[in-house]
Formats: sequence, C-alpha cells, structure tokens
Amino acid sequence: MKIETPVVIVGGGPVGLGLAVELGWRGAECLLVDELERDGYRTHPRANLVNSRSMEFCRRWGIAERVKEVGTPPGYPHTAMYVTSLRGHLIARIDRPAHGGGKQIAFTPEPPQRCNQIWFDPVLRERAEGFSTVKLRYRWRLDSFTQDEKSVASRVTDVATGESHTIRSGYLAACCGGRSPIRRILGIDQNEDEVLGVPISVYFRAKNLWDYHDKGKGVLHFIVGPTGVWATLNSLNGGDLWRVTLHGGAKEHAAPEAVDHKDVLTRIVGIEFPYELVAISPWVRKKLVTAAYRRGRVFLAGDCAHQNTPTGGYGMNTGMGDAVDLGWKLAAALEGWAGPKLLDSYDAERRPVALRNVEEATRNFQLRSFAPIPELVEATPAGEAARRRLGDEIVKNTSRELLSDGIAMGYRYDSSPIICPDGSEPPPLSVTEYLQSTFPGARAPHAWLADGRSTIDLFGKAYVMLRLGRDVPDVARFADAARRRGAPFEVATIDEPTVGSVCEKRLVLVRPDGHVAWRGDALPADTAAVIARVTGATGASSPA
Ligand SMILES: Cc1cc2nc3c(=O)[nH]c(=O)nc-3n(C[C@H](O)[C@H](O)[C@H](O)COP(=O)(O)OP(=O)(O)OC[C@H]3O[C@@H](n4cnc5c(N)ncnc54)[C@H](O)[C@@H]3O)c2cc1C
Repeated sequence: MKIETPVVIVGGGPVGLGLAVELGWRGAECLLVDELERDGYRTHPRANLVNSRSMEFCRRWGIAERVKEVGTPPGYPHTAMYVTSLRGHLIARIDRPAHGGGKQIAFTPEPPQRCNQIWFDPVLRERAEGFSTVKLRYRWRLDSFTQDEKSVASRVTDVATGESHTIRSGYLAACCGGRSPIRRILGIDQNEDEVLGVPISVYFRAKNLWDYHDKGKGVLHFIVGPTGVWATLNSLNGGDLWRVTLHGGAKEHAAPEAVDHKDVLTRIVGIEFPYELVAISPWVRKKLVTAAYRRGRVFLAGDCAHQNTPTGGYGMNTGMGDAVDLGWKLAAALEGWAGPKLLDSYDAERRPVALRNVEEATRNFQLRSFAPIPELVEATPAGEAARRRLGDEIVKNTSRELLSDGIAMGYRYDSSPIICPDGSEPPPLSVTEYLQSTFPGARAPHAWLADGRSTIDLFGKAYVMLRLGRDVPDVARFADAARRRGAPFEVATIDEPTVGSVCEKRLVLVRPDGHVAWRGDALPADTAAVIARVTGATGASSPA
C-alpha cells in the first residue's frame, strides 16, 4: 500500500505524541507510527515530573486540567527527603510548596505536576486522536527510509499482519527514543561510550507505605549509605504505586531475576511491609546529545536526539520543548510561509538546550556519590554530626536538582538565526532561578490579565505583537510585512501596569511558540527585515 502524508512521526512516546498534538492543534496533517501498542509503560513507569513549561504546552493544547486530574492528587506533598532508611535517620528534607495542584507561582499559570507517563502518555494520545488531521498507527514499525530533495519514502511493516507499506511524506520526525534506528540510518554519531550506569527499577504496589515509618508523605526518598545515594524511592501516584531505582555500579549489566526485591525494599523502609511486585526493569543511564538534529527532511527529537540521567527530571521535558519548537516550524513550512532558515533554526535552538540539560543532569548524578563517611549511618554523636554536615551540603549543592525553574523555564534561543538581538545585556542564566524577561529568544513572560487570562494564553497560532501601555506606536507596517510573507500576525494592545512592567519594552513580538522574536520601544527603520528574519526568510540556509 502506498500512503502519502505531509509529516511522518516515528514513535508514539510523549515526544512523538506531543509533536502530533502540536501539529494537529495547528490544523496540520501527520501520520504517527509506533511499533508497540505502548503497553511497555505499564511495566516500566518512567517520567514523573511534568515541569511548568511542559504544563504550559498542555494548557495550550487544552489538557492541563486532565493532566492534573490523572496525576498525583493536588494535596499530596512534593517533598523530597534524604534518609539512611525511612525508619532511620533523616539527613535533609526539601519541601516544595510551589509544586503540584493549582498553586500560584509568579512566573507561570501552571505549576509543575507529577503525572507519570503511565497516565501522561494516554492523555496526549487521546488529545492527538481528537484531531481529524492526525492519524495514529500502532504496531507499525519503521524499517528504512530514503530521501531526496522533495520527499521522504519510508518503509514500514504492520507488525500484526506482516504487511509492508511505503509512506511518502514531505518530512520525517524521528521521535523513536534512545534505541532509534534512524540515527544509525542517517549515520549520526551516537556517543555509545557515554553510559553512566545500568540501574534497575523495581515497580511495586503498597498501600499507605507512609504508615510504616515516621518521615511522613513525600514523592522522592533518597536512600543514603556511607558512600552516597544507593536507591531512590519515588511515589508514582501519591497513593499505592511506587518505583525504586537501584542505582547500580557504573556499566555493570544487571540481571533482574538476581534482585532480591524483598531485601531491598525492607532495607529502604527499615521494616518488612506488605507489597505486590509489579515488575523489575533494567535500563541504561546515558549522557548523549547527537551531533545534529537534522539531515535533509529528517528531524530528530526527544530521546532520539538526547538522553540524560533522570536526575532532575529533564529528559521528557526537554523533548516536549523539541516537539513544540519543531511543530510550529513544520506547520509553517506546510502552510508555505517558512523561509529556508526556519527549519534550520530547530537545531540551532534546541541542541544547546539539550547540551545544557544533559550536563546539568550528569552533575546531579555525580553528586549522588561522595567520599566514604563510615559513621553516617551510626546512632552516635559522630554520626549525627556527619549527617548534619551532609544535610547542609545537600541543601546547598544538591537541592538544585529538585528546584530547577531555570532549567524548566529559563532556556533561551539567543543565538538563533531567527531571533533579532537588541544589543542589551543578557540576563544571567541560572539553574534554580527563573527571571521573566523579554530578552530576545526568551520565553515571553506570564502575567495575569484583567480578564483572568494569562498573557501566555495570547500566544500560539500567530506572531503576536504586544503593544504595552498608552500612546504605543502603531504597528501596521509590521502587519503589512507579515501579510506580504503570508505569516499569521496578530496585535494585542494591553494597558495594564503589571503586564507592562514584566514586559520591559513597549513593543514585544512573540513567536507562535511563545518565545520573544524582537522587542523595542519604537518601530525599527526596516520592519520588513525584522519579519523576514523571524520567519527564516533571510540568510542562507545551512547545509542540511
Ligand atoms: C527511570 C526513569 C525516570 C525518568 N523520569 C523522568 C522525569 O521525571 N522527567 C522527564 O522529563 N524525563 C524522565 N525520564 C526520561 C523520559 O522517560 C524520556 O525522556 C521520554 O520517555 C522520552 O520520550 P520519547 O518520546 O523521546 O521516547 P520514548 O518514550 O522512548 O518513545 C519512543 C517510541 O518510539 C517507538 N519506536 C522505536 N523504534 C521504532 C520504529 N523503528 N518504528 C516505530 N516505532 C518505533 C518505541 O516503541 C517507543 O514507543 C525518565 C526516564 C527513566 C528511565
């Protein structure tokens, strides 16, 4: 069978589904294939943290409330604690009152949530299925593809029937995870050496686990021994589902059947407790960013493009950022107004974000081991002093893994070819702090509008020119320039002091993905040049 579609997405994990939703939301057609029916996630629950930026994407797609409904209940504390065991000594406790539920945070309408992929992926799938332009084909495996200047021809097999199909598309988005065959087909470097370890996940069910110890409810429990954290206990649903990660030695191959789960769980809690084992899954902790995100008409996104240790919860969230960045640009190309630099800018914008996040995740992981402190687990004054010192150290250096608003929200596309720099000093980049800014390339700020919407609710389907305050210059010349290029353009005039102060300038041009493309207090001499740049029309296209 021969099939034609503008975009083929390979992989129906959160990133492939996120891209399908982003394209569907823009009215663009795509076909997603996944070799599995995605039952795999029932046995290995992976990402829990949906950060604020991913939640903002969900808000745009109309599923933020659904994610909150199916995730950890709003009242359940997002507390993290470092303990020798749950009935043993407390070393550090980090409460995160700004996480979860519908709490108010100054810089976003969407606080981070905990919604494991077991529930998050189906919410995305349901949303994707709701668009008539999006087709999902499960148990279809991509085997190979070729591309030329005009299109991509993909060979896929229907795993259930063994039938082969050829799909001809304008573009192919590889969202097929860490074991992607596409990197290999394209010959893009995989950095196989960067394996940081082979941990094991123990997934189990236990009711009211918190009744068996005195540390109270939490979502993350780091179990610390004399040389570092040897296990992490994660609450998956604020109820009866839990996952332990046994950190494992570097590069050892772990045998799931050799894991004495009863012994491990008893050591973690400090007492035997009733539980039901669901699954034991080994996985590979990697540090990887591919050498390129694009070859011709093929784009890599999510774990296919970058992999990091989950220390910090950055992997899926970074991938969701890829999906949104790629999504609006592909839609622009299909609508016919994308300049040649627009699709090129995907690599220029997203690879630096992955490089930063992968480094930070690796740093977090490395801090989990330390020089031996033999007295750490002892009930002696020396043990107590050692725990106090380590606790102080954790709060000072390690807690940034748990409080990383700057990673979630603060990434910027300053060096992108489609951003117009204004010559001002870049605000500092921090891991823990996120300062809202309209610095070109930054995420455009959130502020509540008098009508109850957030400023970020204004962005999405067009370039939006914010006119802020009174007697603001007319922007008809910008609108004309955008119209001549066929790019969607809207104007939002807002005379509300709280919005004006957070936006810094009187005119701020925001792209469809909610990042600032240009800003100023007055119109530039050449508005057409600004529009040409932000739509990727100017400059030579980099070799694909
Ligand atoms: C223990 C653990 C905890 C984690 N916690 C977090 C967290 O808290 N926050 C966070 O942001 N990230 C976390 N991550 C990382 C997160 O799980 C991944 O980054 C995320 O799943 C990547 O999504 P993806 O869509 O890119 O790839 P995947 O989820 O791996 O999906 C890829 C899909 O492609 C399909 N596929 C592969 N090859 C083919 C083919 N040839 N044809 C068709 N289909 C194909 C596969 O079947 C699969 O369904 C964690 C990971 C682990 C292991």
